[in-house]
Amino acid sequence: MDKLHVTKTRFPSRSDFCALVDEMFNSGWVTNQGQLVQRLEHELQKKLNIPHILSCTNGTFALMLSIAHAGLSGKKVAVTAYTYVATLSALLWQKCVPIFVDIEPQSLCMSPSALRKRLIEHPDIAGVIPVHVYGLVCDVESIEEIAQEHSLTLVYDAAQGFGSSYQGQSLLVFGDYAICSFHGTKIFHTAEGGCIVMHTPEAHQEMSLMRAFGHKGDTHYCLGINGKMSELHAAMGLALLQGTDEEIKKRKACSELYDEYMRSNPNLAFPTHRAGLDYNYAYYPVLLSNETTLLAVMHALAKKNVFPRRYFYPALNTLKYLSPEWKDKCPVAEGAASRVLCLPLYGDMLPEQIYDISCVVNEIAL
Ligand SMILES: *Cc1c(COP(=O)(O)O)cnc(C)c1O
Repeated sequence: MDKLHVTKTRFPSRSDFCALVDEMFNSGWVTNQGQLVQRLEHELQKKLNIPHILSCTNGTFALMLSIAHAGLSGKKVAVTAYTYVATLSALLWQKCVPIFVDIEPQSLCMSPSALRKRLIEHPDIAGVIPVHVYGLVCDVESIEEIAQEHSLTLVYDAAQGFGSSYQGQSLLVFGDYAICSFHGTKIFHTAEGGCIVMHTPEAHQEMSLMRAFGHKGDTHYCLGINGKMSELHAAMGLALLQGTDEEIKKRKACSELYDEYMRSNPNLAFPTHRAGLDYNYAYYPVLLSNETTLLAVMHALAKKNVFPRRYFYPALNTLKYLSPEWKDKCPVAEGAASRVLCLPLYGDMLPEQIYDISCVVNEIAL
């Protein structure tokens, strides 16, 4: 088999991309909110049905800017222990104190009851960052209720959530802020990039200023930084945006094929989809019965040139470089991290590849 990874970067048609790059050449404009960036923001607004959206350099920056704008820098912030490390890094770069919250065993997203427990232990928690892991949806109703009760700022990391919707709305509409990543490994991407969704024109304007050094002309309004998306990145996004729904359809078909081959195996488990979720099929996570089996599956797949990813491993509350007093136990997250494998998934996978991978997993996961 050809080498297979957890995903394969999606490329637009060369001519679509080049036509947009030609526009950039003609405009003589490479960055600073050029016409392609403006068009991409407008297209995203329409597609996601969201009034206020800002593009930026990457998802990690989007989180950092949201934390800073929300006034959470330096404060205690509750965060799920089961996510990509960037969620935590953004918090730490903003000098926040992370309070790790365990996850629900079914959805692998932040557990509202675990959040309530942490709020009793740490009444000074000021904000919460749940993650829509794999593009699945958090228990947004319960989390919203808790955030309101405790006056917490709610920042959703929806880095993997592009194309998923819940009760007819994009996952990016939930929370005081939501961020998405447009990294090359994500279902929709701009090579590197991301966006922030906020809910007032004021927040939009303030964050737009902060994203571009905090000044307009010679008037300096606030402390800013540079998080602007370039025209080249926007060109990639514009060339890929149209095809995203088609990619989701194809990945759905691939996922259904995996399901057909593996769902009946009693030694495998799969995260559940909350009712009302219209899923983006961004990943295909499988829970093996234990870490030894997981390692054996990885070993057997590697021999066939297949390289799935331990996504997310390790649970973030166990990272070596954290202060020991932050490492509160999160048994469900730690358990999931030890036995989840994301199998290769992308639109152009061949049915035979899915069959072969499923056979290896089934053979070993006895
Ligand atoms: C990809 C990802 C990020 C980081 O996004 P970048 O655009 O790579 O900075 C953050 N959180 C999660 C859950 C991710 O999957």
